[in-house]
Amino acid sequence: MADKIFRVNMSDLTTSIEDVPESWAGHGGRGLTSTIVAAEVEPTCHPLGPNNKLVIAPGLLSGTIAANSGRLSIGAKSPLTGTIKESNAGGTAAQLLARAGCKAIIIEGLPKENTWYSLALTPESITINEETELIGKGNFTVLETLADRLEDKPAILTIGQAGEMKMCSANISIKDPDGNLRSSGRGGLGAVMGSKKIKFITIDPKGGKVEIADSEKFKEANRVFAKALIDHPISQGLGQYGTNVLVNIINESGGLPTRNFTQGQFDGHEAISGETMHDVILERDGKVKHNCHAGCVIQCSQIYNDTKKEKLTAGFEYESIWAMGADCCVDNLDQIAEADRIMDDIGIDTIETSVAMGVAMEGGVLEFGDGAGVLRILQEEVSKGTGLGRIIGNGAGSVGRAYGLTRVPVVKNQAIPAYDPRAIKGIGITYATSTQGADHTMGYTITANILGVGGNVDPLTKEGQIQLSRDLQIATAAIDSTGMCLFIAFAALDNEECLPALVDLLNARFGIGLTMDDVIALGQSILKTERGFNIKAGFTAADDRLPDFFYSEPLPPHNVVFDFTDEEMATFWDF
Ligand code: SF4
Repeated sequence: MADKIFRVNMSDLTTSIEDVPESWAGHGGRGLTSTIVAAEVEPTCHPLGPNNKLVIAPGLLSGTIAANSGRLSIGAKSPLTGTIKESNAGGTAAQLLARAGCKAIIIEGLPKENTWYSLALTPESITINEETELIGKGNFTVLETLADRLEDKPAILTIGQAGEMKMCSANISIKDPDGNLRSSGRGGLGAVMGSKKIKFITIDPKGGKVEIADSEKFKEANRVFAKALIDHPISQGLGQYGTNVLVNIINESGGLPTRNFTQGQFDGHEAISGETMHDVILERDGKVKHNCHAGCVIQCSQIYNDTKKEKLTAGFEYESIWAMGADCCVDNLDQIAEADRIMDDIGIDTIETSVAMGVAMEGGVLEFGDGAGVLRILQEEVSKGTGLGRIIGNGAGSVGRAYGLTRVPVVKNQAIPAYDPRAIKGIGITYATSTQGADHTMGYTITANILGVGGNVDPLTKEGQIQLSRDLQIATAAIDSTGMCLFIAFAALDNEECLPALVDLLNARFGIGLTMDDVIALGQSILKTERGFNIKAGFTAADDRLPDFFYSEPLPPHNVVFDFTDEEMATFWDF
């Protein structure tokens, strides 16, 4: 069965199933969402208007037995950044979409009436259904209600109240195999889904098998690939402590943004560290080593219970814990976990919203360290859409503008994540030049800057940072097209068998003969497609820089500033 494009027009409430154009056939995941958005979305359109499109695509290897290949890419023009956007997450949707023969879902137009809908995809059809019961409800209620309402166990993509209110930080949540939520968090894609008045999408689990051109070669390549992932020490650390293993490491480096990016170390780091979290999880009968989709061999996720040993949150990530913890000076892991659960329920990006809280603290809305105040604002203001709730729900830049602040850590209006670019300069290059606003996952230089993976590049000097970020951004664009989780990068950079095995997987899946050079060329062309969209949308080299305070305020303890000139930054695009 050949893969198809499932198209939904919300303006006239029609659907169609189309052949895949030849020029899209070699793409998947991010490569496909960005190719379609660049081809079909007018770059200057309003992201919440009728001319934006929401594109959902499994990776090239999703739905197969390839380890860690179940990520789903979602793309559109971002209401937060105004740039092209791709955000990927785990959950069961990518695998079921691939098995249903769906290359991508394209959702276009806006409904004429004030009516809400859901979409239901099967291998043969995609249908639009009116929805009333779940409107105004949080994501957990959506999952519980649909578990009762639907007989099979479909994959579910859903938006919470933040998406319904079209907040620029709204995410799209995806159900994982155990009924937890994973999030396509960044860039406000939940607001785009909300603008189209789609509350949730279900994907039927009765698809067939993904066709493999050479199944013996595929199995052998997967054996080598999975072994490389399992054997890498960072994979093992992620399985034991989760991504939160990074709190103590980044604090030690002096690059843990603290108190709205005024310090590089947090006195309360031990209380919120991965090691502490690991012990608390075990004491409360939670779970370390949990996977966000079937087939993950690293298992960086976990289940975090409350003091009564009942589930409080899952997939409790370093970036969320840093943002609500060090950046807001909250050193109470239970309060941070509660905030994480509420944000998952409302359907709002934990990085953007927590950095917005830090900026609000600087603006005097609440005190630094006031975890109870954060919980109150999330429950009483953001989820109910009060004036303050909407200011915070529209992101860190929105709070900065509302309160007249200048220390607002955003690039292209997207909040800077958990690594201060003054003390870890390579990641500053990624934040500034990424086609999608500040995003560590676009070119994760923490590998060579801090972790000694793929070599060593001194985080405090300028030498080698642009090349490092460029190489990683190109590689990431290609990896994001396969459906692979980003955490394959550690083994890929250190184990010489890993990347060739990934290329072998692609070749065995499709019966083609890609080389490593082809994969690099794919990554380069995706970045150029994305940048081309942004240039047409009005972005220039002047947008590829950090906020002023990073160039003028030295960051303790190293007392360093970000010191790349705009001319040096512009050389990033010399390829
Ligand atoms: S390593 Fe973590 S993010 Fe990656 S697939 Fe596994 S659980 Fe998901």
